[in-house]
Amino acid sequence: MQTIATENYLPQSAIIHKIINENSQIKTFEIVFANQAVHDSLKYLPGQFMMVSVPHCGEAPISFSSSPTRTDAICLSVRKAGQLTSAMHDLKAGDNLGLRGPYGTPFDMVSLKDRDLLFVAGGIGLAPLRGVINYCLDHRNDYGQIFILYGSRLPSDIAFHEDIKLWQQESGITCLLTVDASEPGWDGSVGLVTKLLADINIDPSKSSGIVCGPPMMIGATLKELSNRGFADENLITTMERYMKCGVGICRHCHLDDKLVCTDGPVFTRAQLKTMDVAELR
Ligand SMILES: Cc1cc2nc3c(=O)[nH]c(=O)nc-3n(C[C@H](O)[C@H](O)[C@H](O)COP(=O)(O)OP(=O)(O)OC[C@H]3O[C@@H](n4cnc5c(N)ncnc54)[C@H](O)[C@@H]3O)c2cc1C
Repeated sequence: MQTIATENYLPQSAIIHKIINENSQIKTFEIVFANQAVHDSLKYLPGQFMMVSVPHCGEAPISFSSSPTRTDAICLSVRKAGQLTSAMHDLKAGDNLGLRGPYGTPFDMVSLKDRDLLFVAGGIGLAPLRGVINYCLDHRNDYGQIFILYGSRLPSDIAFHEDIKLWQQESGITCLLTVDASEPGWDGSVGLVTKLLADINIDPSKSSGIVCGPPMMIGATLKELSNRGFADENLITTMERYMKCGVGICRHCHLDDKLVCTDGPVFTRAQLKTMDVAELR
């Protein structure tokens, strides 16, 4: 009989150091492991995720929204969706939660070197990309121009205000926002996030597109970037599927013959095209 080394899968106790209210639905949790040695030994890359638990409220995968180059705390940005995430939203600084991981394949930050990077995010999709963007900023000479296009449903849904402000001040970064529908006081762009592509000047032959958001937005954006000349290998996304174990055992998160937890969550469009994936239909 196969035995599994369960100690590798036990959640470690972690303490919430700070909570940032990004909007009415999204909070960013800055977290440190209770055991300093565990905190110091954590190694992860942007695109990977942790399985997060609150006692009696279940467990769910949440991507790192921090960059491993910033070691004081790890960040998880969480949209209130169901049982676990609602319980997280009720927590306060100083409260505990459980963390196991990191899991999943990260963005290949080496193959992205020397390329211009186009980040396209919708809603909570900016959370995993925040980690990649800040990683690139902390290795600024390794990456070319950075373009960030961020779409929200309404102006009041815009999250990550502090980050956006910093990114908009950085040279070599273009960060543009749009909303699906306006509200009083909004004088910015209105329209789908792909509309912002008309406002930037990017050469697809030396650029990679990194896309994250709701399934329909991912599909439409990958298609639009492909039409604009981006090669499928240079179009990268991170997929979400309902997931129980995070380590390739329960198979809840299968994408055709692949698993989001172990083969992904980061996939290129070229990889997705070999599978029957709803986002590309
Ligand atoms: C790799 C990865 C990274 C992620 N990163 C983030 C992140 O950074 N931030 C973030 O906010 N979210 C993230 N998610 C999404 C998050 O894990 C889910 O929203 C998770 O379900 C929330 O758990 P919950 O207990 O709060 O909600 P749940 O109780 O699981 O409910 C959430 C939604 O899932 C539906 N659902 C419940 N059970 C099932 C089922 N058996 N089959 C299908 N649907 C079901 C519910 O109806 C509801 O609409 C990520 C998901 C993956 C796979």
